[in-house]
This record gives sequence, C-alpha cells and structure tokens, in this order.
Amino acid sequence: MAWRAPSAKTSLMAETPVAFAANKLAELDARRQRRQLFETDRQTSVYVRRGGRELISFCCNDYLNLSAHACVKEAAKAAIDRYGAGAGASRLVTGDHPLLRALERALAAFKGTEDAVVFGSGYLANVGIIPVFAGPGDLILADELSHACLHAGAQLSGATLIRFAHNDMGAAKRHLAAHRARHRHCLIVTDGVFSMDGDLAPLPELARLAGAHDAWLMTDDAHGLGVIGRGRGSRHAFTPPPPIPLQMGTLSKALGSYGGYLCGDKAVCDLIKTRARSLVYSTGLPPASTAAALEALKIVEEEPARAAAPLEKARAFCAGAGLARPESPIVPLILGKEDAALAASAALEDKGFLVTAIRPPTVPKGTARLRFTFTAEHKDSDVELLASEVRKLTIPAAAE
Ligand SMILES: *Cc1c(COP(=O)(O)O)cnc(C)c1O
Repeated sequence: MAWRAPSAKTSLMAETPVAFAANKLAELDARRQRRQLFETDRQTSVYVRRGGRELISFCCNDYLNLSAHACVKEAAKAAIDRYGAGAGASRLVTGDHPLLRALERALAAFKGTEDAVVFGSGYLANVGIIPVFAGPGDLILADELSHACLHAGAQLSGATLIRFAHNDMGAAKRHLAAHRARHRHCLIVTDGVFSMDGDLAPLPELARLAGAHDAWLMTDDAHGLGVIGRGRGSRHAFTPPPPIPLQMGTLSKALGSYGGYLCGDKAVCDLIKTRARSLVYSTGLPPASTAAALEALKIVEEEPARAAAPLEKARAFCAGAGLARPESPIVPLILGKEDAALAASAALEDKGFLVTAIRPPTVPKGTARLRFTFTAEHKDSDVELLASEVRKLTIPAAAE
C-alpha cells in the first residue's frame, strides 16, 4: 500500500518522540529531578577531575580502590592479549572463555557455596535469576528499598509482587500469613546492604521466616562483597551465617571490575545457565573484566586489612560528623527536598569534596540526601576534614 500523508485528525493527535521527550524533560526540570551526566576523569577512586577541578570523591563504589590496582589492570591487559577484547558470543554459543569458569570456581570457594555463575552485569543477573525461580502463580516478597533491578526482575517474572516495609519482619510475616498459602512457590528478595541507606538486612530473621513459610531467600549483596564479613559479604556479618540458597552480587563495586554473579548449589547454577534469559541471550562477560575480577578477588582474600578499611573510615567520619554509627561504608545524610540535597552537594564541592545528591525516584519522595561512600585509600585527614565540613551544613528542619 502506498504511503499517504496523515489526515488532519491524526496529525493533531500525533506526538513525535522528540516532542514527547522535550515535554517529559521540562516536567523533570520543574521537579528538580532531571539527571545529567558529568564527564569524570577518575584515575583512582579517591581523586577525580570534573569540570576542570580536582576533587576528593566520596561517592564511588570502588570501595577497595581495586579498579586502579596495578595487578588488576595487568590481569585485564594480559587477558586481552590472550583472549581478545570481547567474548564474541553468548556463553552458550562460543563466548564461554576459560576465565569465566575460573572466576566462577573462585567466587564459589570464596563465598563457601557449591558453585557460581557469572553474568554480564549485576542488573542482568537480577533480571535473569528471578524469572527462573518465580513465575505466574508464585509470590515474591521484596523489601521496599531493594535495588531497582530486583524489582525489575520480579516484575518480569509475572509472579505476584508484594513490597514489604523496609527491614520490617512483622510486616513480612503478615504478608506471608495472608498470601503464602495461595501461591505455589515464594521468593523473598532483599539487598544484603541497602545501597542508598547503608544498613544491613536482618538476614538471620529473614532466613528463619523463609524456613517457616516454605519460601526461598535471595540476597543482592552488591555492597557487601569485599567490605562486610571479612569481605565475604553480608551473610558473614552474622554468626552463624544464615542459610541463603540464592546469593547474588556484582563484580563492579568492591571488585573494581564489571559483571554480576549468583552463588548457590550446583543445580541452581546449572539451571540458571540453561534458563536465565539475560545469560542465554546476551554476550559473555569480556575477558578483561573477568580477569580483573578474578585478580581483585585474590587481593580481597589476601588482604583482610584492605577489606576492613572502608567501614573503619565510615565509622571515623560518622563519629566526627555527629552521625549514627554506620553498618557499612555507605552513609546517608537525609535532607528531605531535592533542592536541599543539591545545595549541600554544591557546598561540599566548593570545599573540594565530590558527594553527589541522591534524589527521587532513586530514593523515596521527601528523602533526597547526600550519600557518602568510603574507600580503603581515603586519607584519614581528608575524612576528618569532610566530617568538619558536614557539621557546618545547615540541615533543613523538615528533614530532622
Ligand atoms: C549496583 C547495584 C546493582 C547493579 O549492579 P551492576 O553490576 O552495576 O549492574 C544491583 N544491585 C544493587 C544493590 C546495586 O547496588
């Protein structure tokens, strides 16, 4: 059929993608929620160059500064020389280069699980894993503050999704009592360390609840690996470590590389390799990222003092700034309105500190904040200086 000009009626109704985008951006601007990219030259995770200025960064997830570690960089270069720049295909076709299996074995040994499976990223891991273990007719209970990609995976699965109040075991129990019986399987998902609040999930209680209600517990330990529980993750912050059959995490934070993983029993990992769509239909993790993570994992294991340092720095900062004792290297300072968070961030930037403002929808409405993260190589004197600057910030009464 020949192309015809749209009738007057349809052209009136038609909104081009460009007009749609422009309107949407104007709305976001009005709400102070528009995000922007800032080119950042980040040779180390402590000092960065932005807008022609050198700043001390307190907003990087490279907790152990391993992305710039000489041995990690060397391992990545050697992997490129040996195996090339990319994996070339899905792992199920020809992309399963030998470094992937080596990394999976190392992750399993480090975490004390039977096996592990590596994904292209943490986000891909969550959107791949959850639909393998839950589907229509099943129930997923998710902590409301869990990372966006856990919610994305839960939505993709087609299971009934209920969000329970943050770390509220009474609420989780009530939802289980009310809904568990009508569903076949039940998956409970939570961050191990909450990415925007820095607190830990009560994993022993969650494991007990899961046991009592015939549910499966899955943790996302993106911010636990390398920095909590002697580097082994949030499960190891508790004695004895509670049973968690599905332990997901990322290679892109404390390990300083890129990629995601699931640790669990062999059957769990084997099923993932044959059914997780984000593994089956996506190219394998590149050799350089795989080798870098493998080398970084070795360093975490060999240098327990490095793994302990970020939390120690966070504690020193909180003591100096008059904030509550933190449970992880992530420290939020909740300021309420978007403008207040942006102003506080700008005030610190004036003093040479880079601390980005975190705004809705990344965090709940009315809880815009500064989010500080501490790394092993932050100087104690810089941490002290930051604490004294934070003491001088005016905190809006509404946020207290
Ligand atoms: C960063 C993060 C992810 C995503 O991991 P990537 O490897 O960056 O895709 C998943 N979950 C949590 C809790 C995170 O903080």
